Amino acid sequence: MKTIVCDQPDHLSYQERPTPVVTQGQALVRIRRIGICGTDLHAFRGRQPYFSYPRVLGHELAGEIITVGDGVTDLKIGDAVTVMPYLECGDCVACRSGKTNCCTSLQVIGVHQDGGMQEIIRMPADHLIKAPGVGFDELALVECMAIGAHAVRRAGLSVGENVLVIGAGPIGLGIMQFARIAGARVIALDLDAQRLEFARNWAGAAATVQGGDEHSKRLVDELTAGNGASAVFDATGSAQSMIQGFDYVTHGGRYLLVSIVDATISFYDPDFHRREMTLLSSRNATREDFHWVLQCLADKKLDLVPLISHRCRFDRLIQEFRAWTSPGSGLVKGIVEV
Ligand SMILES: [Zn+2]
Ligand SMILES: [Zn+2]
Repeated sequence: MKTIVCDQPDHLSYQERPTPVVTQGQALVRIRRIGICGTDLHAFRGRQPYFSYPRVLGHELAGEIITVGDGVTDLKIGDAVTVMPYLECGDCVACRSGKTNCCTSLQVIGVHQDGGMQEIIRMPADHLIKAPGVGFDELALVECMAIGAHAVRRAGLSVGENVLVIGAGPIGLGIMQFARIAGARVIALDLDAQRLEFARNWAGAAATVQGGDEHSKRLVDELTAGNGASAVFDATGSAQSMIQGFDYVTHGGRYLLVSIVDATISFYDPDFHRREMTLLSSRNATREDFHWVLQCLADKKLDLVPLISHRCRFDRLIQEFRAWTSPGSGLVKGIVEV
C-alpha cells in the first residue's frame, strides 16, 4: 500500500509498505479522507516540539472498515468510521479516572507514532467510531471539533453567559460552535478580519473584536457591560496572547488554555486572586466528546463542510502540501481524498 512519509523537516516522499495484519481486537480501515491540521504543518516545517522523523503524519481520519480481528463485534466490513487517534495505556492514574485524553504515556497517531497518510491503517477497534449517515468529509473533521467540544465541556458553560474565544482558527471556531450550542453568547477575537467574518457567519459569534491590545480589551468590556467574559478560551498558539488573555476574564470567571506552546506562561497574582479566577487547561478529547460532535452532526446543529477551504487527491498531496503550508494560502481546513 502507498504511504506518505515525512522523512525529515520540509520533505515528504511516497513509500510502498506492506498492508498490516490484524490481531485480536483490531480492525483495518481503508482511509478515505485525511484532514490536515496545524500539527501536521508544524511537523512538516520542523517546528513541532518532541517530534521525531521519519514519521507518517495524519491524525484526522475517516475511512471504511475492510477487516476485523477476532473479538470485534460492533464493527463490520463496510462501516464508515471516524478514528480516535489517541492511544492511551488504560491503567495509569489518568486513565483509571476516565481521563484517557491526558494519559501519562499517551501516544497520538501521526505524532508519536505513524498516522494516517496511508491507504490502510490498523487500529484498536475500540478507537473507531461508526456514524451511519455522516459523510467522510465530516467524519474526518470530528477529531478537530472534539477538541473544541472537550474544552467547552471543561468550562461547564451556562445559557446566556458571555464567552470570549481568542483565536479563530479551526480549534477556536470549534470552541465557538460548541459554546453557541451550549447557549452562550460568543465574542470572537482574532487579528484577521476574514477569520472573524467566518466566525460570525459560520460559527454564530454574536460579536467580533479585531486586534489583541488595550483597544480590544476596551471593546470586550463594552460588549459585556464592563465586566469582561465569564469564560475565556485561548486557541491562538501564542504565548503572548495566552498571557494577555488573563485580562479579559471577569471576577469569578474561568480561563481555559486550549492551545499549547513551548513556553512559560505567567500572570500577576494579585489580579488573578482578586478575581478568584479558575485556570484550566484542555487537552485533546475523550470518547464522550467524539460522540457529542457526532450527535450535533446528526441533529444538524453543525455543518462542517464550509470549513474545508482546500482539497486534493492523495497522489497529489506532496505537490500541494507546500502551497498549503505557505503563509497567505488561506488554509482553514485541507482535506485529502484517498
Ligand atoms: Zn489536528
Ligand atoms: Zn494511561
